[in-house]
Amino acid sequence: MGMTQVTTLECTLCGAEYDPNRIIYTCPEHEGVKGILEVTYDYDAIDDAFDGDLGGPIASQWKYEAFLPVAADADIVTLNEGGTDLFDAPNLSAALGVETLVKDDGRNPTGCFKDRASAIAVTKAKHAGRDIITCASTGNAAASLSGYAARGGMDCRIFVPGDAPTGKLAQPLVYGADVLAVNGNYDEAYDLSVEVTEKYGWYNRNAAINPFQVEGKRTVGHELADQSIARGHVPDWVVFSMGDGCTIAGAWKGFKEFYDLGYVDDHPKMLGVQAEGASAIHDAFHNHEDIDDIAETLADSIAVGRPRNTIKACRALEQSGGTSVLVSDEEILEAETLLGSTEGIYSEPAGAAPIAGVQTALDRGIIEQDETVVVVSTGFGLKDTKSAEKATGGVDRIDPEIAEVEGLYGTAEEAAADD
Ligand SMILES: *Cc1c(COP(=O)(O)O)cnc(C)c1O
Ligand SMILES: [Zn+2]
Repeated sequence: MGMTQVTTLECTLCGAEYDPNRIIYTCPEHEGVKGILEVTYDYDAIDDAFDGDLGGPIASQWKYEAFLPVAADADIVTLNEGGTDLFDAPNLSAALGVETLVKDDGRNPTGCFKDRASAIAVTKAKHAGRDIITCASTGNAAASLSGYAARGGMDCRIFVPGDAPTGKLAQPLVYGADVLAVNGNYDEAYDLSVEVTEKYGWYNRNAAINPFQVEGKRTVGHELADQSIARGHVPDWVVFSMGDGCTIAGAWKGFKEFYDLGYVDDHPKMLGVQAEGASAIHDAFHNHEDIDDIAETLADSIAVGRPRNTIKACRALEQSGGTSVLVSDEEILEAETLLGSTEGIYSEPAGAAPIAGVQTALDRGIIEQDETVVVVSTGFGLKDTKSAEKATGGVDRIDPEIAEVEGLYGTAEEAAADD
């Protein structure tokens, strides 16, 4: 009994195929974690099974269950992830000088798009009879996995870099996870989680190596295609920030599936945005010579020095006819306040980075002014209020006296006379 629509796990390096019903993470033929596996499907079977109302409402990502690699008899662990709004953003568009829409994936149950993948991970782990699930995380995957593990009645043990924002550490603790803050960076926390998985046999959710996690991220692509059908227009560009590169890869795979099946008649170009201080995918895509593995950016969710999914991410950029750009931390913070102040959408730095990327791409003539752009805000701003303080310069402190207000805005009479 298995996932009828999944055919194989195929190595992205050597093409070797593996049985999807075994728990296997990477192709054993290569050193390290480079032999990332790709889940392949029987699309005729999926097309037969899928009866969603395209262009209609999206209650959650489970509208696309026919595309998801979970067994027909699995109990689905869900908090109603996905189905996020695609907003018109007229004020932001005017400020940027290009028509821009915002898909706000920060509105997922734990405040980040990773919930799409966590729902799949916990559903699969539970169905496989596992009771301990683990991951390494820059913060959001930890919070997300912990929430879903709690929902699924599983134990969760997570490895985070010691300097993750405190808001992101509080969340998994409330969800009851063991939070192991590693004295080191994300890459070191990651390597430890892989070693632990091998030694203890816990189920590993790491999106970059667990081939099924990217599959959950496809639903953001399905939704973007579905919402394009509702709007009668496919955007020219879809913009994501990139850390490990799984998100943009998953989103592209999902959109392309709908395009290949003929559900939509066009596809967007993917624009990947990285921070100047953590630019490994961008460097690989543009064939830069000296790729370093430094990860220095305040956008902690994309502070990845050695991305685990560079191959899939670069394929997404290339196949879609897109590209990548770099942005500075300063530009990311400006983008965060720009999005908040123009549209009332509060993103964490990695969620706002795509907007800084659009600005850069416009300046460089990559995006044309008559094109349409969708930016995906991947994470909610309340997860990282320290960065928000930096971005805004903080509050005006005043004494509880009317004179203080008059000092700022003039007297009530003066203000009325100005109207
Ligand atoms: C994880 C994350 C990203 C980057 O996703 P990758 O799959 O690592 O490229 C971007 N934004 C937010 C908010 C995230 O949590
Ligand atoms: Zn291989």
